[in-house]
Amino acid sequence: MRKETLFRKRLKRVFFILLINVISSAILLAALSLTRFPSILALGAIPIIAVGWFFNKRDIIFTTSFIYLAEFIFSVHYGLISIIQTQTIVQGIFSYSLFTIIAIIINIIRSMNRKIHALNEELIIKNKELEDISIRDHLTKLYNRRYAHEYVYDYANNFLRQLTTPEARKRDSIFSDKVIIVVLADIDNFKLINDAYGHGIGDRVLVAVSERLTAAVRFDDIIIRWGGEEFLLVCNLAKKEFLEHIVSKILYYIRNSKIYINNDVSIEVTLSFGATYFPLFDNAPSLFTFDQTILLCDKALYASKQNGRDQASCIIPKSDCLNEPDGGAQISVDDFFMSREHSTLHVIK
Ligand code: GH3
Ligand code: MG
Ligand code: MG
Repeated sequence: MRKETLFRKRLKRVFFILLINVISSAILLAALSLTRFPSILALGAIPIIAVGWFFNKRDIIFTTSFIYLAEFIFSVHYGLISIIQTQTIVQGIFSYSLFTIIAIIINIIRSMNRKIHALNEELIIKNKELEDISIRDHLTKLYNRRYAHEYVYDYANNFLRQLTTPEARKRDSIFSDKVIIVVLADIDNFKLINDAYGHGIGDRVLVAVSERLTAAVRFDDIIIRWGGEEFLLVCNLAKKEFLEHIVSKILYYIRNSKIYINNDVSIEVTLSFGATYFPLFDNAPSLFTFDQTILLCDKALYASKQNGRDQASCIIPKSDCLNEPDGGAQISVDDFFMSREHSTLHVIK
């Protein structure tokens, strides 16, 4: 099938070049018989260079030979060139060789340009692949910590900037009522899995957990392999109310899809979570940085571990606005988490 299409393509091409040659020769000879002016034959350069522009070197040589021979035979036969002298033939050969050389040079430049273009495209693709490799974890194919530092932190800072502009406060703005939901997840007793089944199985469990996390969230949510068996989930432009819903959904996905370590043996894998959103308060968006927000999640995650694992602890502010005269500028992450003055810890089991 492919051979046939290739053959047809070639046939079409030969036919097309022949057509160019016949038409060009006919036009040139008609012009010659009308004007009886031999120099008109220099117009033969046009089809030769055109073939050089669109086709290859072999086609150029064919075209030159065809047009030159056609003109020569016609001129001699009808005596259009009164004196066919050696000098005229030599001049013809010389000028047509010159056209051929020009056409070949144009052809070389064009094909070099095409090659450079193709190489550039290839380079762009390779660079993209390389960039992808540098921001992804090779085992789970999730984003790595580098990606978080290079893009997610930037995104969060930008989001904060947008949030504090007067436009963002308008009701119809895409930023109004929106937060970034941050969830830190850690596989429970993963060391025991490694110890019991070996690192290879441990790796497979990591991949399986990554797949379940990916399946549980939206396509544009970002999942990062934060550490060995720790994952960071970032949901951009989310509503505050989604937090517990998202965490419950992940818990559901993890609990309801078995992880098989071979054809018929599955193991139970649970995760603990710490979650909150960024920023916490509408009137104090800069209370904690994005980094500090992750730290808060870490503390909540620790609480989940302390309370028996396989659960999520969500830090939810008691009110949308922080009731502090100075905007709470003095509150440290530790004090905020410990005091329970401004937030509650919702546990989802
Ligand atoms: P906890 O419930 O308190 O989180 O207990 P844990 O056993 O999950 O936590 P711990 O920090 O004690 O152990 C984490 C283990 O994860 C230890 C380390 O060898 C393992 N680990 C980290 N990265 C990888 C990896 O890429 N592959 C495998 N197989 N194991 C890993
Ligand atoms: Mg763990
Ligand atoms: Mg851990």
